[in-house]
Amino acid sequence: MDHILSRAAGCRAAAYIAFAITALSAAQAQPSRLESIPDKLVVLTFDDAKASHYTVVRPLLKKYGFGATFFITEGFTFRTNKEDYLTWDQISELHRDGFEIGNHTRDHMGASKANLPRLKEQVEAINAQLAAHGVPPPVSFAYPGNAIDPSGLVILEELGFRFARRGGAPEYPYEEGNGVAYEPGRDHPLLLPSAGDARPFWTLENLKRATSQAKNGRIAILQFHGAPDLEHPWVHTPRERFEEYMKYLHDEGFKAIAVRDLARYVDWRHKPDDPWMIIEQRKSGLPRQPGR
Ligand SMILES: [Zn+2]
Repeated sequence: MDHILSRAAGCRAAAYIAFAITALSAAQAQPSRLESIPDKLVVLTFDDAKASHYTVVRPLLKKYGFGATFFITEGFTFRTNKEDYLTWDQISELHRDGFEIGNHTRDHMGASKANLPRLKEQVEAINAQLAAHGVPPPVSFAYPGNAIDPSGLVILEELGFRFARRGGAPEYPYEEGNGVAYEPGRDHPLLLPSAGDARPFWTLENLKRATSQAKNGRIAILQFHGAPDLEHPWVHTPRERFEEYMKYLHDEGFKAIAVRDLARYVDWRHKPDDPWMIIEQRKSGLPRQPGR
C-alpha cells in the first residue's frame, strides 16, 4: 500500500515538474510582460532634424520629463545650413540625454513604389552616420512626406524597424494636420497614424482634439517639425505655442514617451493580416465590430 502511495506521489511530482518546465519555456518564448495602456499616453515625435529641436524642444522635454523621438534626415539643406539644422554632435547628445533617435532617410526620400529600390541604401546611410556618432541603429522609422507603398513594409522589417510612423493621411487630408489615435492590435506597427501633425495655424484646441483620443487603449502620436521651423513654414510651430502645448500635456497629467517605448505596451511582433483594413474602415466610416 505504502509502495503504491509513494508511486502515486512520485507521479504527481513528475507531473508537477513537467508542468513547471512547460510553463517556464512558455514564459521564455513570450516577450516580457506588457504593461496595460494607461489613458493620457502620448508619443512625441519631431521630424527633419531641425536646429530648434536642440535649442527649444530639448530643454522643455527635459523640464517636464517627457520622452520623445527625433527623426533624422540629411535632406533639405542639413549638410550646409547649421542655422536651421542639427549638427551630428547635437544628435549624439540627444541620444545621450535618453531621447530616441529614429531614421527619416538620408535624402528625405518618400517611400513611393519608384523609390523603394533605394530605400535600403537611404536608411543605411543614416544608420552609418549615427554609428559614427555613437548612436545605435534605430528601431523606429518615419515616412518622409507620408509617401507609403505597401511593398515597403517588408523592406522596413528587414532593416530591423519595429515601428514606423505616418501622418494623419489617408484618413484625414494633409492640410489640417488632424488624425486618429493608434489602436494597438488593429493598426500595423509599421503604419502608426499621427493623431495630430502640428500646423502653424494650430491653437491649443487642435492639440486637445488630438490628445483627447488617448484613452480606452488608444495612444495619441503627435508629430512636430521645428519649433520654430522657418525653412518649412507650412509645418512651423511658433515657440510660444509649443511651450503652451507642452505645459498643457504636463499640467493635465499626460505621459509622453518615445516611439520605441511603445514596446512596453504593445507586442510589435503582432501584425494584422491585412494592414490596410483598419484604414479603409475608418475612411468608409463603417461601424466596427466591438473589441476588434
Ligand atoms: Zn520629414
